[in-house]
Amino acid sequence: MNAGELLVASGLDRPEIRVRLQPVWPESIPVKVFPHWVDILLPTWIEAMTTPSAIWVRARSLALGGKRLGRLILHELVHARQWREHGVIGFLRHYLSDYLRARIRGRQKHRAAYRSISLEAEAYGICASFLPDSRGRGDTTG
Ligand SMILES: [Zn+2]
Repeated sequence: MNAGELLVASGLDRPEIRVRLQPVWPESIPVKVFPHWVDILLPTWIEAMTTPSAIWVRARSLALGGKRLGRLILHELVHARQWREHGVIGFLRHYLSDYLRARIRGRQKHRAAYRSISLEAEAYGICASFLPDSRGRGDTTG
């Protein structure tokens, strides 16, 4: 299964969405289910994660399907594009420095610090622009 198939299935395969993901081609991004041990160890609020080579989702999130899964996949595809733009080191440096700055200098709690990560803000913003009912519940990325 790939991210392009899931965009189609959720009604989100639209040209204006694909433009925001360029140069990533959603069909080239495999979608995999977390191994069981990851499913157990991850905090429950994490539904998906993007690595440079794939989007990983919980089995329960994949089973839900529909717009909710589509929103999750779109969010993760934005991260796939960000990995491509920044490279592995650049992405991780950007992501972690935003988070740690908020936690240490801003004395924010985890959830607020997570939301202050600019790469997350962009992903949530793109989802909200195409899915106005987005509640922002999503994922984290590692
Ligand atoms: Zn994210």
